[in-house]
Formats: sequence, C-alpha cells, structure tokens
Amino acid sequence: MSAADSRLAPYRGRFAPSPTGPLHAGSVVAALASWLDARAHRGQWLVRIEDTDTPRCAAGAAALILRQLACLGLQPDEPVQWQSKRTLHYEAALNVLCAKGHAYGCACSRQDIERALAAAGQARERHAMAVYPGTCRAGTQGRGVRAWRARVQGMNDWRWHDRRLGSQQQDLEAQIGDFVIKRSDGLWAYQLAVVVDDGLQGITHVVRGEDLADNTPRQQHLQNLLGLPTPDYLHTALVLSPDGQKLSKQTGAQAVDVHDPLHALRAAARVLELEVGGDNPAAVEEPTVNRWLELAIEAWGQRWCRTAPALGRL
Ligand code: GLU
Repeated sequence: MSAADSRLAPYRGRFAPSPTGPLHAGSVVAALASWLDARAHRGQWLVRIEDTDTPRCAAGAAALILRQLACLGLQPDEPVQWQSKRTLHYEAALNVLCAKGHAYGCACSRQDIERALAAAGQARERHAMAVYPGTCRAGTQGRGVRAWRARVQGMNDWRWHDRRLGSQQQDLEAQIGDFVIKRSDGLWAYQLAVVVDDGLQGITHVVRGEDLADNTPRQQHLQNLLGLPTPDYLHTALVLSPDGQKLSKQTGAQAVDVHDPLHALRAAARVLELEVGGDNPAAVEEPTVNRWLELAIEAWGQRWCRTAPALGRL
C-alpha cells in the first residue's frame, strides 16, 4: 500500500515518546500536533512508549509522560503500547528481512568501520555519521555477528513528500549506508521497532518533530521490504534552546509544568504557528483546556486538513 492508499484507511495517528525524561516544551509540540491532526481528521490517536533503548530510559519517566499528557487533555484512544513488550514482533521482522536477503549480520566494531573508511580514503567530519563501508555484506568471514544491518545498495534517489516540508530527497546509499536494525548490545534499533509498530498498529499518519525527518527514507525502505503500508508524514517545527540546538534533555530542557496546562499548550501552538481562536479572540481569553483544544482542532483543520475538521470531539 502506498502513501496514497494509506489515506483511504481510517486515520490512525500516534505519539511515540522515548521515556528518557519527562515531556518538555519540544515533546509537547509533537504530542499536540499529532493529537490535533488525528482529531481534525476524526481519527484515532495512540500513544506508544518507545522504551527499547533501555540504558537511556529514565526510571518513572514513562508514567510521568502519561500523567503530563492527561493533564494537557491529550488522552489516547487505545491502551498505551510499550515497545519493550513487543520484541517478538521485531525478531519476526528481522527473520523475514534476513530470509529475503534484505538484512545481514555484521561483525564490525566502530573501530573496524573507522579503519575501513580511513583505508578507503573516506575521512569524515567530526560528529558526521559514519556510512558503513559494506565490509560484511557478503559475510563476516568467520567473525562473530555483532549487529544486524539492512541493505540500501542502489537506493540512491529516495523521494518522499512531507505535508509541511514538501518534496524531500535522500541518497540512502551515499548518505546513510546499510543501517543497523539490531544493535551490537542486543537492543532493537529505533528504525526497525518504529516501522514494525507503525505497521502492526495500522498507523496511517505520522506527525513528529523535524529532527526525525531524515529517518523517513530508512523507515519507508523497511516498510517496503516488509510489505507494510507507508503512512503520510508531517514533521513539525522544533523548539530550540537559546543557543539554537534542538531542545532535549541533553540541552537542559525543563519538564513541562502541567499545573498550567494552557500555558504549555499555547507555547506549543505558537511553535506550530497555530492561531487558536483566531476568528474569536474572546473565546480564548479564559478557556478551559478542553475548550482551547476544540478551538485548536479547528485552527489545525483549517491549516492542514483538506476535509473539514471534526468539532466537538476531544
Ligand atoms: N521515540 C522517538 C522520540 O522520542 C519518536 C519516534 C517517532 O515519532 O517516530 O524521539
């Protein structure tokens, strides 16, 4: 099923936080945008806790995120899913990819990769991603498998459409290379888990932060290899820290103060350039959270949905 077909399926969107810390101003933007898009399309909105990267998960963060969402009036329509409970699905997908020759075991350590790149004269800039040189594509030559990679040879002109960013293009082979789907520490890589879950949960629309946009071709490639439908994508603007970095726990983002949910929601709406209650400013002076959300659905629908927004359903 292509992106065009996915629009025919009933709308199912999701918010998929990694529980590395509480919701902050940046993650509220993704939560609110995905919720508004689902509501404006009269669709379902799911929450999935992406807790595969256990060393980065903070104790209690998932429960806190769910409480924060509830205080913001953003309630999922189905029970929350936890990636840590879905590993059998990821295992099955890896087996399919390997059986079809789309994935392979890789024995290379980070140093092996650096050495192979240096030997091939492919010095890279500090912090730039190392594009895997393909050492184990034809087998590990008796070395033990550490990680599993998906092949991207020949994927040189991946084109896709983002509802906000417009046409996008990536050379998967040159810019990304065969990418890890199961890590050397035995953990499932985000790319595989997100694709398997979006597919099995019937997600038709992905709305998330722009920092994740360049993952989309990898995910669409995996969807194709696994015979899963490709959702529609909308990547939102990001909240930046004062020094221009993406707001994150690492850049010192503060937990959102849910004692004043309207303040947090209004700040997120500003990032999304949504004029909530634009036609009726009096309506947004002292609204309840639910009333504000109703007006936000209307504003979102006018901006991003071709069909009329659904009003009155929270
Ligand atoms: N878990 C990812 C994050 O918190 C988001 C995944 C996604 O929306 O595809 O950054």
